[in-house]
Amino acid sequence: MERVDVAVIGAGPAGSSAATWAARSGARVVLFEKAAQGRDKSCGDGLTPRAVAELDRLGVDISQFHRIDGLRVQAGRTEREVLWPSGAFPNMGAVAPRAVFDALVLQTAVDAGAELREHATAEPVLEGARVVGVRVGTEEVRADLVVIASGAGSRPARMVGAERVDGSPFGLAIRAYVPSTRADDRYMEACLTVTGPDGALVPGYGWVFPAGDGLVNVGVGALSTMRDFTKLNLNTMLDAYLAQVGPSWGLGPVAARPKAWRLPMHVEHRSGPGWVAVGDAAGLVNPFNGEGIDYALESGRHAAELFARSPGTVHAAYDALLRREYDPFFATARRFAWVIGRPRLLRVLLGIALSTGFTMELVLDIMANLIDSRRRTLAGTLLAGGGRALSLLDPILIRTQESEPSEIRARVDAAR
Ligand SMILES: Cc1cc2nc3c(=O)[nH]c(=O)nc-3n(C[C@H](O)[C@H](O)[C@H](O)COP(=O)(O)OP(=O)(O)OC[C@H]3O[C@@H](n4cnc5c(N)ncnc54)[C@H](O)[C@@H]3O)c2cc1C
Repeated sequence: MERVDVAVIGAGPAGSSAATWAARSGARVVLFEKAAQGRDKSCGDGLTPRAVAELDRLGVDISQFHRIDGLRVQAGRTEREVLWPSGAFPNMGAVAPRAVFDALVLQTAVDAGAELREHATAEPVLEGARVVGVRVGTEEVRADLVVIASGAGSRPARMVGAERVDGSPFGLAIRAYVPSTRADDRYMEACLTVTGPDGALVPGYGWVFPAGDGLVNVGVGALSTMRDFTKLNLNTMLDAYLAQVGPSWGLGPVAARPKAWRLPMHVEHRSGPGWVAVGDAAGLVNPFNGEGIDYALESGRHAAELFARSPGTVHAAYDALLRREYDPFFATARRFAWVIGRPRLLRVLLGIALSTGFTMELVLDIMANLIDSRRRTLAGTLLAGGGRALSLLDPILIRTQESEPSEIRARVDAAR
């Protein structure tokens, strides 16, 4: 039977990052991907400075991607533009269509020495509670570590119990590619006052992310903490948002059928004997803004580095690292998701956030997780204090909201 050091299931950003770092450390790595190269993924395609920093570390050249200098935020008639902060992260972002982006990151893994097997729908092989390898059809590959990088709610993740914590918030979003006369704009635009089926404000946002080359990525996303979540209709919301931004962005007809998907935000069981989950499979999407590419890349690197350091203790070390470095931020962001599920509170908070350029910059630092942890900053202090205060409100805040709108469930399950 074939034997490798690391078997990775899924060649999105998380899997390709894990495969790259593991191969560079000298491990024999096989990367299984069920689709063919150039596969698409429903995404806003937005790379914030945090993602740019991680791509830099990985050695991926993103100079061909459309550069982004900052964020334009709208709420009702108020609009503010803020540049990316300079400090702990590069002061640039980018937009790159996922078909192109994922192919580039995957090529980095192959160049590092990972062996790619495409059209290979893989699943973990379990012996008791231990994962001992990967199965594709009737073929088995034994591995010291199996990296589950197969995305949100995927079968491999469910098989090892890496599932969303019951009742925890998650996101649903839809995106479309649309020709635009302003595809070269250097700001990502986000509208924070999108409305739901009952006309109330939705915790989420609409976006226009310019991709260069004549195209923009337009989408809307909402959190499951919203009122009347089961009545959410993303297609209707997207149509309304396209009509709203169409004139100012010089939009043409939507290029292909819009695609919707889930954004997982809370998985507790992220590793076990012989396996670790990374990226969306580990629920690592920032509830403040729906970003997951950076956390996918980062978690892939952490898993590979910890394996290289001590293969026998990787699952415990990885769990400890996530709990220490990521969980406090994500826990605060999830609590915030419950707060903004109340339209009146959301309106008040939007008023404060957009009141001045300074408050908007602070909000961007906190929500995009761009705080410089090497120094004491106001954003850092506010995040820590806000986190503590919000944790006291858990009994009031948290309402269990399980059901997903049937329209989305059917579409997402069909696409799986
Ligand atoms: C509409 C929308 C907009 C978003 N916008 C942004 C954004 O602008 N910026 C941002 O940072 N994040 C965004 N996100 C989140 C981001 O898309 C994800 O966090 C990111 O793709 C996670 O990467 P991943 O590698 O963990 O998973 P994925 O990108 O989902 O990759 C998983 C891979 O595993 C493969 N796979 C699945 N099952 C198997 C199997 N059994 N065997 C082999 N292969 C398998 C899949 O084919 C896929 O290639 C958005 C999400 C949505 C839904």
